[in-house]
Amino acid sequence: YIQFEDVHKSFGNNEVLKGITMGVEKGHMATLLGPSGCGKSTLLRCLAGLEEVTTGKVYVDGKDITDVTPRNRNIGMVFQQYSLFPNMSVYQNVAFGLNMQKSPKDEVERKVKEMLKVVGLEEKIDQYPAQLSGGQQQRVALARAIVTGPKVLLLDEPLSAIDAKLRHSLQIEIRRIQKEFNMTTIFVTHDQDEAMVMSDEIHLFHDGRIEQSGTPTEMYTAPRTRFAAGFIGSYN
Ligand code: ATP
Ligand code: MG
Repeated sequence: YIQFEDVHKSFGNNEVLKGITMGVEKGHMATLLGPSGCGKSTLLRCLAGLEEVTTGKVYVDGKDITDVTPRNRNIGMVFQQYSLFPNMSVYQNVAFGLNMQKSPKDEVERKVKEMLKVVGLEEKIDQYPAQLSGGQQQRVALARAIVTGPKVLLLDEPLSAIDAKLRHSLQIEIRRIQKEFNMTTIFVTHDQDEAMVMSDEIHLFHDGRIEQSGTPTEMYTAPRTRFAAGFIGSYN
């Protein structure tokens, strides 16, 4: 459903993506797993249209979107750092994308309330981001990303700043929502346990290349390289 074809991306003479070819099946949760600085966020940003690829192609649902503007890609994204608008209430944050689409006011209100119910934050509707915990802020960011009904959802380490206990319940919640709305999702993490429990498919990243792709079980039981074994598998 999502397809990268030999995607290269350089910043100056620093080549960050060195020929990425990979696909994600429709409705799947795919995790992109790899060490810090290997290019995970850059790949998501290329898919969202926030960065231009240097060479290569990006397809969604068979359509070449390489030159489509970010607004017309219909992709929801939650970033690594909290990225709510601090001067807007929870309501206004979640309503933002709908207002950009010029949806009628009563429809905006209905959808925002519905989405806040999905992430369990109805009672926070008039609060501001600074009044919320980190986990609550990421749930608002998730509501904001999916309220417009995107077919593709990108999650860039949405849980990395959240403590272990809350992280587990949010993992379950994100998985439930992703399935309920049947969004083809790429979830970035550098935590192998998170990748194992969250995903239908894992793509292991190493220095701008895909080292190995497979189901969690395949990755764990049959790592093909020493790097894959060290990162995820039981190597023997
Ligand atoms: P982390 O797990 O720490 O978030 P990552 O895998 O997401 O790491 P990226 O953020 O994609 O890594 O960065 C990969 C490389 O690209 C880094 O060396 C970074 O310095 C470089 N890079 C990313 N964005 C830019 C930019 N806008 N300008 C220049 N270099 C950049
Ligand atoms: Mg990153």
